[in-house]
Amino acid sequence: MKQFVHELKGMMKLPKLDSFGKMLCVQPHPDDADISMGATIAKLSQKGIRIYYVTVTDGSAGTRDESLVGKRLAEIRKREQEKAAEILGVHELLWLEFEDLGDYSIEQVREKLIQIIRKIEPEIVFTVDPFAPYEVHPDHLKCGMSTAQAVSLYRLPKLVPGTTNHNVAAIGFFNTAFPNTFYPIEQEHLNKKFQAISQHRSQFDETSLQTLFFYLTEKSRAYSPMEGQLVEPFKVLPPMALHVVSEAYML
Ligand SMILES: [Zn+2]
Repeated sequence: MKQFVHELKGMMKLPKLDSFGKMLCVQPHPDDADISMGATIAKLSQKGIRIYYVTVTDGSAGTRDESLVGKRLAEIRKREQEKAAEILGVHELLWLEFEDLGDYSIEQVREKLIQIIRKIEPEIVFTVDPFAPYEVHPDHLKCGMSTAQAVSLYRLPKLVPGTTNHNVAAIGFFNTAFPNTFYPIEQEHLNKKFQAISQHRSQFDETSLQTLFFYLTEKSRAYSPMEGQLVEPFKVLPPMALHVVSEAYML
């Protein structure tokens, strides 16, 4: 079995993150990509890779303060994400504005994402891992699944009339339990990521920010295959692994 998985890996040619010109990051809420791959985004943007964010929901449910729930919070979070994106060097922000914790479907999001993939033509699409064993947040599950389906099916006119000759070479998952890619980052990229996360003031007070920074720093050390190196872990797969290939979680 080990040999078979090894051969499959060779056949699938897992791509390198810096080898792309355009990257699309699809996140459930404003802040998710900054938290889970902000340092990688800062580094790739420095290297000249063009980075687009798609935020699926409006973030309007992310508070315990009832007077803020809804449009008021959505506006605040949009501004926070804009500031954070500027720090990381994200080139463009796209908003799908589905209601945070709302009654929208995977199919509705998938349709929008197929249109965006055909228009922007990214070589790699990142999203949250919908297969993470203990993830329960409905927006995260729907975001990850609709993105994975869009990356698998974006050429088919049945889902959105028309087609494309563009080739998406890879999908990357963050918040994954099955990482196969450990992207090396420097302290300066981690610092930028923390600066970006700090913009999401509606989500974090000073104490929770410090706890999050501690967790993320330790995580970037712990996942590194090399002592002293910092990384962000991802699951990167070619789109063909998203259908029928039951060994994909091992690749
Ligand atoms: Zn989220």
